[in-house]
Amino acid sequence: MKIINSIVHMQALAIAPERGERRIAFVPTMGFLHEGHASLLREGRKRGDVLVLSIFVNPIQFGKNEDLDSYPRDMDRDFQLAEACGVDIVFIPTVAEMYPDGFQTGVTVRDISLPLCGASRPGHFDGVATVVTKLFNIVRPDVALFGCKDFQQLAVIRRMTADLNMPVEIVGMPIVREADGLAMSSRNAYLSPSERQSALSLFRAIKRARELFASGEHSIAVLEKETCAVIEQESTAAIDYVEFRDGATLHKLEVADGNTLLALAVKIGQTRLIDNTVLGEEL
Ligand code: AMP
Repeated sequence: MKIINSIVHMQALAIAPERGERRIAFVPTMGFLHEGHASLLREGRKRGDVLVLSIFVNPIQFGKNEDLDSYPRDMDRDFQLAEACGVDIVFIPTVAEMYPDGFQTGVTVRDISLPLCGASRPGHFDGVATVVTKLFNIVRPDVALFGCKDFQQLAVIRRMTADLNMPVEIVGMPIVREADGLAMSSRNAYLSPSERQSALSLFRAIKRARELFASGEHSIAVLEKETCAVIEQESTAAIDYVEFRDGATLHKLEVADGNTLLALAVKIGQTRLIDNTVLGEEL
């Protein structure tokens, strides 16, 4: 497994004639890897001849009062997991090289970036779209894998690659959960043992909404009220949003169907967690 820090070096490998017909599969991450990331890497291993993992905590997708400085890091453990998943190249650029003095370009995906996390975290998806564009230009992947855990991020990236004719196939992978249902996330490391218990309220809320939907309750007003009620039972949980939206457009709805997305963002203590489900899909 090669570890590359330099953009020029990474790009030179990607565009070298020796690459030939070899397909590059790419998994961009912010590190502190877990089984969710591993599922993307394993799928990438199957889909590409060369598997590239990037680890970059992207400062421009963090808001002023967010957790950029405290974001968990453990490179040695990340390398072990990467090696076990068959990664060929780990690309770890520096902030200074990604955003040198004078940097002033951004990529904005308009409507689909606005609701949900886009409303709670202004500018977040501009930061994501910009860094993913840069990484695609550096790594030149044929296929890139993203998790449905970040449902809106995946939608933004699908829109961006289609709108800008980027020659990359985007693959969305299912949410990987802990045995008790908590969606895996690097940010789970922030949770105290009691917060870890409270964090299960997100999954409980998802299950409640799915049960109601399956039993014929399709009114979004009712579904929303019942889903919020589950979270509100947890005293340390503060709802950022609980919303039911069209899974393709993210538009608001009044009546749910199988393609309806339930997306949640909830603060457990100081930690903001997100989760989601599409009502007609398997959990
Ligand atoms: P992050 O390091 O949090 O930026 O995530 C990197 C990639 O891993 C993104 O495409 C995420 O959607 C994906 N990912 C994170 N957590 C999970 C999970 N629990 N299940 C599946 N994919 C995940």
